[in-house]
Amino acid sequence: MVKNTLKVIVLVLVLAVLGSCENDEIQEPPPNIVLFLVDDMGWQDTSVPFWSERTAFNDRYHTPNMERLAKEGVKFTQAYATPVCSPTRVSLMTGMNAARHRVTNWTLKKDSLQPMETDHPQLEFPLWNVNGMSPVAGDSLAVHAMPLPQALHDIGYFTVHSGKAHLGAIGTPGENPLNLGFDVNIAGHAAGAPESYLGTENFGNGKEGRETWAVPGLENYYGKDIFLTEAITQEALKVVDSAVTHQQPFFLYMSHYAVHTPIMGDERFVQKYLEKGLDSTEAKYASLVEGMDKSLGDILNYLTDKNIEENTIVIFMSDNGGLSAHARGGEPNTHNKPLASGKGSMYEGGIREPMLVKWLNKTEPGTVSNEQIIIEDFYPSILKMAGIDSLETVQKVDGQSFVEILKDEPKYEGLRPLIWHYPNEWGVTGPGIGAASAVRQGDWKFIYFHADRRMELYNLKTDIGETKNLASEQPEKLLEMASILTTQLKAKRAQMPIDKSTGKPVEYPLEMLPNEKE
Ligand code: CA
Repeated sequence: MVKNTLKVIVLVLVLAVLGSCENDEIQEPPPNIVLFLVDDMGWQDTSVPFWSERTAFNDRYHTPNMERLAKEGVKFTQAYATPVCSPTRVSLMTGMNAARHRVTNWTLKKDSLQPMETDHPQLEFPLWNVNGMSPVAGDSLAVHAMPLPQALHDIGYFTVHSGKAHLGAIGTPGENPLNLGFDVNIAGHAAGAPESYLGTENFGNGKEGRETWAVPGLENYYGKDIFLTEAITQEALKVVDSAVTHQQPFFLYMSHYAVHTPIMGDERFVQKYLEKGLDSTEAKYASLVEGMDKSLGDILNYLTDKNIEENTIVIFMSDNGGLSAHARGGEPNTHNKPLASGKGSMYEGGIREPMLVKWLNKTEPGTVSNEQIIIEDFYPSILKMAGIDSLETVQKVDGQSFVEILKDEPKYEGLRPLIWHYPNEWGVTGPGIGAASAVRQGDWKFIYFHADRRMELYNLKTDIGETKNLASEQPEKLLEMASILTTQLKAKRAQMPIDKSTGKPVEYPLEMLPNEKE
């Protein structure tokens, strides 16, 4: 009996060794993936410094679970999104740059520009994809693409959407995450903000005239003393647990409504910020941040408790810069200092994001990467993490995988340019806010403002605050950057606004430089 048992053990061992020699990759089960996206969170709205120095903001906010994630994973110091919500979210779900997918502003109403886009004194805005993204071909004013969750669903992932969607206008297929490859949708719809964060207010449901903004679903929490951030986390983990029980790999898109307006206090955390001396609005904002961080901690704890930490990748990101032009306490446009401006702006305060990735046994814990990442890179990266090396998609994917960076392999040595294109009006004024295009390559950043054709050139290595415009001092660099941006915009068939005074499209930047005028 003992002898036979030994024989079986030896046979099993031999088969295991043979199996692993044949193909290492096949032996590994596909990893679970948690994509934790925060709304409107600034680069420094955290106790984790993403710069070479700690700032006063890093001391203001308390995010212990982000600290834990940074210790266990890779911290990216130069990760970028677009200046506002929908363009970022569509890039994330399609891998396309905003200039190409043309969902260049925030979406809400079907087939129509919003009022702030119809009464601009100088510019007539292009008919951008106001309906957002669509899983089917032929929808007007929408970008047709293979959505990221659909690709993951198709190879066997259980795909869960929890929180804010904001991917398609009201009454279009893209408004419902279930049409985009998610198996479950918790609380996501067309709107990009919640009417209320409070369970005691039914998250805004039942409030007359505010139906657009009331958070859908979550009826189980109506009337209860629970914050939205907490409710969507609890629901998400409940749903994920069914996949874990069946040993099915899962993709959890934990897409928080926080820390977007309305800035409402999370009672669990607000008092200590008042005691720190913050004004009422800023204390509430800090409590939104800490509530979000608590959600992150709950998810990390869940993974540990279920013993699936080793085979679960956790990615942390925000969708645009921290709000600073309005609705905040204190002086406007200062909430991201030393970065200039905030949400809506082409300056770093509008686009630079806190990004963390944890992948145990693949990444070195506590490392820092200064590689420049942009939001469309997430699509090919997450596919690669799931084992999809190449995928035939209807859309042209602009992003590049950052998986090699996680494994500490050299990447982007040729210093690829990163492109932003926002030929629109956000609806709020502030520094660097307004129709513009921009490019970053290496340490240099060039911004072209459409209304007055203003050009700005900065060296971010020496001037992260974009305080010294080098456009006139460095004409050769200006020409080089204008040329790169023009080439990139043309290649992506970027739409420019029409100048009302001439009736013609705003020129590409290269056409505005003296020697290059055609
Ligand atoms: Ca946002």
